[in-house]
Amino acid sequence: MFTLDISSIDSWLPSSKKPLVIAGPCSAESEEQVLDTAKAIAESADISALRAGIWKPRTRPNAFEGVGEKGLPWLVNAGKAINKPVITEVANAQHVEKALKAGVDMLWLGARTIVNPFFVQEIADALEGINIPVLVKNPINPDVQLWIGAFERLNKAGITKLAAVHRGFSSFEKSVYRNVPMWEIPIQLKSHFPEIDILCDPSHIAGNASLIAEICQQALNLGFTGLMIESHINPTLAKSDKEQQLTPSNLGAMLNALKPKQTHSSNLKFQNKLEELRLKIDEVDNALLKKLAERIDLVAEIGKYKKDNDVSILQIERWTEILESRGNWSKILDLNPHFIKTILEGVHQESIKIQTEIMGQQTKVDTK
Ligand code: PEP
Ligand code: MN
Repeated sequence: MFTLDISSIDSWLPSSKKPLVIAGPCSAESEEQVLDTAKAIAESADISALRAGIWKPRTRPNAFEGVGEKGLPWLVNAGKAINKPVITEVANAQHVEKALKAGVDMLWLGARTIVNPFFVQEIADALEGINIPVLVKNPINPDVQLWIGAFERLNKAGITKLAAVHRGFSSFEKSVYRNVPMWEIPIQLKSHFPEIDILCDPSHIAGNASLIAEICQQALNLGFTGLMIESHINPTLAKSDKEQQLTPSNLGAMLNALKPKQTHSSNLKFQNKLEELRLKIDEVDNALLKKLAERIDLVAEIGKYKKDNDVSILQIERWTEILESRGNWSKILDLNPHFIKTILEGVHQESIKIQTEIMGQQTKVDTK
């Protein structure tokens, strides 16, 4: 498996306060708006970097697509005014060239870019030999391999100052979120590459300002390194993403109310208790797996029995009855019926696979 050569975010974007915070408007709109926002943010929060989008990937062409190149000096100068590094989104080689020339300190690749390996490769090629920090947002769809692929392409071009940004995923299902968080996807990324620092972008997950605090807290509860949050001097006038931008003072108040979490505790009593509970979980998991193995043996026996009697594998009435009865048992045991249904569907799929294999086996004919 490919391994990444990544340096920890602490070494290239130090933060005096935990969590590390990158904040700034969704888009640079005018010189004044970027500067006023930067100054107001610096007054109310201890941020590590200032963000602003210059080229905005919009779904429809009539939406505000960013001010383009002329906004680069606005961002760079606002960063200088508050003495913070600045970061913007690049989506092609031309953007990279212009951002570097203007003196932007860090770059991020957006969700719509990560879905296209050609664009990621083009950007990686344009950055060959320039070890600038790059933040990699997750792709729009929940595909951890695409996300990993972007890290691999950038890393192969020699970029080691890399970190991930979790901004949620598009979903057809109705949801309170603009992009559903699906926390399991960044957790999968972290299990592949434990050295990756992950920031959470609650603004694009939420889509509205009222959900941002709880998403930030959840990110901290899960051990994320930091946050990238949209903040605008006057959100109601914002040209993009106005519902989800916080005023600088609300940003400061929200950050102050967060409860930071340590990834470990050196408290011996805590460690012992945790160890004791984990041993119990190991025992329960072991018992669960033994029961699953027992169930699979029964499934195989039934498969053979069906085959010998020329009966089909799928018996829909039985499957409906299983779902119904187990749904009721879940309620009695105070288990979430949706969670149990998901597990049962996996078990059922495996049972069908096993019985299909059994059905396909040739009956041995004794030729003697
Ligand atoms: C943004 O950060 O403003 C942005 C466009 O984000 P995303 O790529 O996550 O949609
Ligand atoms: Mn935005």
